[in-house]
Amino acid sequence: MSETKTYPACPKVSLIEGDGIGKEISAATLRAIEAAGGKFDWEPVTAGLTALETVHDPLPQATINSISTNGLALKGPLGTPIGGGFKSVNVTLRQHFDLYANVRPAKTLAGVPSRYDNVDVLLVRENTEGLYAGIEHYVGAGRSAAESIAIITKSSSQRVIVYAFEHARREGRKKVTCVHKANILKMSNGLFLDMFRQVAKEYPDIEADDMIVDATAMRMVTNPEWFDVVVTMNLFGDILSDLTAGLIGGLGVAPAANIGEGGYAIFEAVHGTAPDIAGQGIANPTGLMLSAAMLIDHVGQTEAAARLRKGIYAALADDATRTRDLGGNANTAQFTDGVIRFME
Ligand code: ATP
Repeated sequence: MSETKTYPACPKVSLIEGDGIGKEISAATLRAIEAAGGKFDWEPVTAGLTALETVHDPLPQATINSISTNGLALKGPLGTPIGGGFKSVNVTLRQHFDLYANVRPAKTLAGVPSRYDNVDVLLVRENTEGLYAGIEHYVGAGRSAAESIAIITKSSSQRVIVYAFEHARREGRKKVTCVHKANILKMSNGLFLDMFRQVAKEYPDIEADDMIVDATAMRMVTNPEWFDVVVTMNLFGDILSDLTAGLIGGLGVAPAANIGEGGYAIFEAVHGTAPDIAGQGIANPTGLMLSAAMLIDHVGQTEAAARLRKGIYAALADDATRTRDLGGNANTAQFTDGVIRFME
């Protein structure tokens, strides 16, 4: 699994700046990483609308080759071209590199307006199957019905559940909760739950329990502090990861990692390209910076990751350095200056 891979002191990483505000938040993030002492050899590549404009392909082969070779990428937000039958680049990358675990930490950030002050949930979403297997067809004459088939396999369930427990252990977390609907979807969700119970036996040091998805949705908004690590299938993970982002102040500050076999990993901000503010120098780079901190941890440069997080948390907590989307007055550069200053 990816956890056991060791990386060189200065790993080569494919860098996709992204569209819209991507350029601004990527530049800010690279400055902050360098100041934190993160050592990387960046290889800039393009994707999304930027690549479509320059090389007429939203996911150029050169970009795929770069990620294949490097195994690691940091990615700003990408726009999907409207019309022309283009598939989402994000989805294509996930499928191409079999990035089976989508990891979405949601931790309360002092200074960021939100309803709670004690959230620290790490959501691990199975990223490759379930209803997203894309097996759909119409049934009967005149499209009178449609059928979607959700695939759950033992092997994909096992690897994502193992990832969740390994991650929990590495971060010193206490509990992993499996979220499912096995009371109704007895075979597919039942299989996922069976795999969870099997894997959990290998981790006696970590508490394991399970919860039905509807009860989870309620408890997450009434008692979010109850959750520690959550592992779940694709569709539930999609919905609940936005819910957990909402608990800490929204998608603008949420980081994510997509993890594959053999150390393959793409780290990305969860928010979109924000075309309404692109080019104005006011975008908030927190989502991408926190994703970068996950990348830095992933390659074992844990001190640099801690420094980066310390700077980000302090800059968010200070009225003078918080960005406008969070009620502050700072622009991207002023926030980044603050992040760097607060690392010390
Ligand atoms: P896309 O089409 O790429 O999804 P969008 O504008 O529809 O773009 P988001 O990019 O997620 O969706 O933006 C939603 C709102 O949040 C916009 O008003 C945008 O300006 C704001 N926003 C999103 N990300 C940031 C950010 N990093 N900093 C500041 N504002 C942001």
